[in-house]
Amino acid sequence: MSEPRSLTIGWLYPNLMSTYGDRGNVICLQRRCQWREIPVTILPLDQQTEADQFSKVDVIVGGGAQDRQQEIVMRDLQGAKADQLRNKLDGGTPGVFTCGSPQLLGHYYEPALGQRIEGLGLLDLVTKHPGPNVSRCIGNVVFEVTASPLAEDLKQMLGQPPIIIGFENHGGRTYLGDVQPLGKVKSGYGNNGEDGYEGAFYRHAIATYSHGPLLPKNPFVADWLIKTALQEKYQTEINLMPLDDSLAQKAREAMLKRLESVV
Ligand code: GLN
Repeated sequence: MSEPRSLTIGWLYPNLMSTYGDRGNVICLQRRCQWREIPVTILPLDQQTEADQFSKVDVIVGGGAQDRQQEIVMRDLQGAKADQLRNKLDGGTPGVFTCGSPQLLGHYYEPALGQRIEGLGLLDLVTKHPGPNVSRCIGNVVFEVTASPLAEDLKQMLGQPPIIIGFENHGGRTYLGDVQPLGKVKSGYGNNGEDGYEGAFYRHAIATYSHGPLLPKNPFVADWLIKTALQEKYQTEINLMPLDDSLAQKAREAMLKRLESVV
């Protein structure tokens, strides 16, 4: 009998970066693995972690943070940990990075107050906060995934264009350089409320402003991450056992109906 396929979820700075329900993404990945009897381990990646631990993770989750916490994280991440993270993402390890995390994967983040925070420069994007007196981008967001090959993969799974329903809350405005946007906004602000783009997609990394209910509300994205993580780890085609997502589907329909006037 072949040994069971397992996954390790690396969770970036759980105490500093988990605003607006971002832990929901970790729980969702964990439960969807457990329901399929895929053993799963959650490995926090934070100030206590040695850099070499990063090499153990099969999928990475990074949440949002307040400006101050982002600064602490960036100070801790520079150097060996940043190199490890860069190697993982360049090597094709999948991940989902929300709000404050993608800001840190870009070139820099200019906070509401104080000095520019240098990012890892892994994603060709910059983020600028227009200051404490300018309104934040808050509310439900709906967007269609357009990034390739993610959009094609999801379309095949769903049999229709992949529509993401999420919730955003950010002051920073993100501007993309030479990196694919994750999708096109149908309702809400997205990256900056100006160019109609939402998030970014690099190798197998999903960067988005849509917070932690992202995966529970859009379980097909969770399954894409699990499938991709297993395929990358075991270098073989993986077919996941289908799960009953009728409740999530009902919630999505109710939500889309509410937003019908704008979508
Ligand atoms: N501090 C960042 C901003 O306001 C990120 C906020 C967040 O992660 N929710 O843009």
